[in-house]
Amino acid sequence: MNAPLKRSLPNAADAFWMPFSPMRAFNEQPLLFDRADGMHYVTPDGWRVLDGMAGLWCVNAGHAQPRITEAIREAAGRLDFVSSFKMTHPAARSYAQRLCAFAPDGIERVFFVNSGSEAVDTALKIARAYHHARGRSARTKLIGRAKGYHGMGFGGLSVAGIGRHKQDFGPLLPDVAHLPLPYDRETMAFSRGLPDGGLAAADALEELVQIHDPATVAAVIVEPVTGSGGVYPPPRGYLARLREICDRHGILLIFDEVITGFGRLGTPFAAQAYGVTPDLITCAKGMTNGAVPMGGVLVSEGVYDAFMAGPPEAIELFHGYTYSAHPLACAAGHAMLDVFEQDDLLGRLNAVLPVWQEGALRLRSSPHVVDVRTAGLLCAVELAPRAGVAGARGQQTYQRCLDDGLLVRSSGDTIVLSPPLIAGEDDVETIFATIGAALAPTA
Ligand code: PMP
Repeated sequence: MNAPLKRSLPNAADAFWMPFSPMRAFNEQPLLFDRADGMHYVTPDGWRVLDGMAGLWCVNAGHAQPRITEAIREAAGRLDFVSSFKMTHPAARSYAQRLCAFAPDGIERVFFVNSGSEAVDTALKIARAYHHARGRSARTKLIGRAKGYHGMGFGGLSVAGIGRHKQDFGPLLPDVAHLPLPYDRETMAFSRGLPDGGLAAADALEELVQIHDPATVAAVIVEPVTGSGGVYPPPRGYLARLREICDRHGILLIFDEVITGFGRLGTPFAAQAYGVTPDLITCAKGMTNGAVPMGGVLVSEGVYDAFMAGPPEAIELFHGYTYSAHPLACAAGHAMLDVFEQDDLLGRLNAVLPVWQEGALRLRSSPHVVDVRTAGLLCAVELAPRAGVAGARGQQTYQRCLDDGLLVRSSGDTIVLSPPLIAGEDDVETIFATIGAALAPTA
């Protein structure tokens, strides 16, 4: 017998409590998409919107990529689920192997999770457990950075550098410190390529570890390019200096590459773009082209080896998730790497980058624009707040772009862009022309 229905169902709009959304305002003016292909979303009534954000920085190969769709379909019909606790499936192992070959030299292992947040919390736990395994249990402190975004788990939230995300949730992890953002509007606004002059911000790490006692610090975590906090590329030499300081003190360096991984900067990971290899890399999003939730922590051989010193029958890491290495996610991940190779996604992206940078910098002619920052196929257009109303100009620009058929993201008064890596020159021109028009004074 069917379970009796509740007498009154909530209506469809009220039942879904949406993430990071103003529920009541949203329900007044909802935005629904029910199809997507390539560079576009499509609303239920057939309106096509150019996707300037690759979904949420994740659909790097374009929407509904047929080879990825087919791989997921095939996997679902063959092996719906198997855990990876003391068993696994062939595609998990072959995908792990391929992924490690895609990652920078020296990164030879991957621990699978299901999201960016889980990847970050897992990386922080691996960092602490690494020191513990080496008999350095006092090394528990974690260092993040101002404006950092590392997901919504309690670990990621603790090391993050965006105050608004923390203020409603009570105490977070103790023993966390933060580096300053390596950015100075006066000297770095409208930089072409990487800005100069950020080394002092890296040297702040040396000061910080001296304040906290280097022998108590487990790890430093940064996004190579700050993403959600407003697209801040690292100044020239900054990441190498962090690496140097971490090495000097035996501290692990974690790159959170949930956004920068899988081609966004024109290389597989930011680590390759900037020539700095961290000890751990977190990834998610573009891994499966956003089609199946998946994340991972890429681990250096040295870190992994530290866990292998005990007896072979001992479990080395008491950590994992039901859906780690889910068969559908592994199939999508494999197919994503196929697309990278077969379609030369990196080559295409690099070919379009000069047009991207020039198009972005043209927006400088608007009196409202106070900075334009690009890194690979990322861009932030920072606007001057309208007198006294923080965020109003950003919201208005977002809305005007949407009305004109372009989906961007506004974060306060900053417009953020991260289109699929398959964007052609004409898409890039459309994106910047639409933003330019949205910023023009209305008659
Ligand atoms: N780290 C970074 C750098 C991110 O950008 C994000 C998501 N925007 C996360 C972690 C969290 O990922 P998820 O939302 O998949 O948990």
